[in-house]
Order: sequence, then structure tokens, then C-alpha cells
Amino acid sequence: MSIILPSVFFGHGNPMNALQDNAYTRGWRAFGEDIPRPKAILAISAHWYIRATGVTISTAPETIHDFGGFPDSLFAVRYPAPGDPALAQRVRELLAPIHVSLDGSWGLDHGTWSVLKHVYPNADVPVVQLSIDATQPPQFHFDIGRRLAQLREEGVLILGSGNLVHNLRAYAWGVENAAPYPWAENFEAEAKGLIETANYAPLINYRSLGQEAMLSVPTPEHYLPLLYVLGTQQKNEPISFPVSGIEGGSISMLAAKIG
Ligand code: ZN
Repeated sequence: MSIILPSVFFGHGNPMNALQDNAYTRGWRAFGEDIPRPKAILAISAHWYIRATGVTISTAPETIHDFGGFPDSLFAVRYPAPGDPALAQRVRELLAPIHVSLDGSWGLDHGTWSVLKHVYPNADVPVVQLSIDATQPPQFHFDIGRRLAQLREEGVLILGSGNLVHNLRAYAWGVENAAPYPWAENFEAEAKGLIETANYAPLINYRSLGQEAMLSVPTPEHYLPLLYVLGTQQKNEPISFPVSGIEGGSISMLAAKIG
């Protein structure tokens, strides 16, 4: 019997997690140690949000430092995992007739490497990134997840990286152990309940979930990677939440593991 790999959504939060040892990074590491070793990873990161669906094609993707105002030590981080052009082609095949561009310009952004640095510290599992098409509605992203689910039987780990709740305007900068905003806590709890019962329609139509959803998801890019991952769930597959916590009052670090 062939193994079906889990798929996972990680809340990545602050890029400095790449260099830290904390409850989140230990949870990411434990996830990597617990699951069968994948042949490759297909990563959907909040930070590759463009007006197209593209896949990285490089055999040696660059580590992209797509942020400002962080210490040199973070800019010095490299995550030298190889690419996997054959997987990029396979993604293109599975998603046809959606046009998937083969992209030689993007590499691995911090949504991907800040987490993978802990999941696979040796950077020895090939990684391909799939962009999020900003022109498409949430249903489109969920459907892509459905069509990529097949890859889980082909040894590929499908990994979404964003944050279920992501409101930087409300973020309590410089406050230690800031209490979560009630709307952040409430929306996270509501979403968790919907995930646990595989009730995905309201999560796809999250804009209809009211004011707390709007405050939690003021822009879609950190939320949408979750929909790709939920789309990969097979009937009656278990879902668990290996990492949780709310940072700065308004960033949910919740991780969701399928399978
Ligand atoms: Zn981010």
C-alpha cells in the first residue's frame, strides 16, 4: 500500500522565528520528525501573491529576504534546498487547463524558509513554490488544493504557510506577552471548529463570517494558503492542530495538519 503523506498549514508569524528556538519552532521540528520523509515539498506561501499561478522551476532556488528592518543575521540566512523541476511540471499537468507559468525568477521566500529551516534543518528535501493568484476568488484556491491532493500519494508534502489571523495594524509592537484581541480569539476558535468538522464552505466564503473575520483577515494573502491545504483533505481524514498561540494580540500561529 502506498503511503499518503499528510499536508500541513503553518502560521509563520515573525520572520525571526527562523533564528529562534521557541514553542512554535519546536512544534515545526517535531512535525518534520514525526511524518514519513517526503520526496519533495510543494509550498504555498503568503509571500508569493501575484497576478498569476506560477511554479518555481529553478534547480537551486535562491533564498529570498523579502522584508525590511530586520537584523543582518536574518539577511544572512540561506536555505539551500534544491528545486524540483519535474514536480513543477507535474503541478502544471495536474492543474491544466489553468495556465501555470514556469517561473525562473522566484526562489524560496521567508514564508517558506523561516518554517522549513526548522522542519528540515538540513535543507535536503527539494522544494517547489506555487504562487497564489491574487486575481482569483477563494474558491479557486481551495479547488487547486483539491486537484493537487493526488501529489500526497506521490511522496510530496503540500505545505501552506500564512497565518489564519493576520492583522499587522492591530499588532502590539514591542509589547511582551500581549493578550489576544477577543475578535482574534473568537475568529480562530470559529475557524478551528469549522476545520474540525470539515465544514469548508463558510471558510471559503470567509467574508460572510462577519466583523471578526474582517478584522482577522483584512487582506487575503496570509489566509489563502490554508484553503489550499484544506482542499487536499480526503474523506474522513483526521485533522489536528500541532502548533497554536496568538502573537502580538493579532497573529494566529495555529498549524493544521491533515492526515
Ligand atoms: Zn508573512
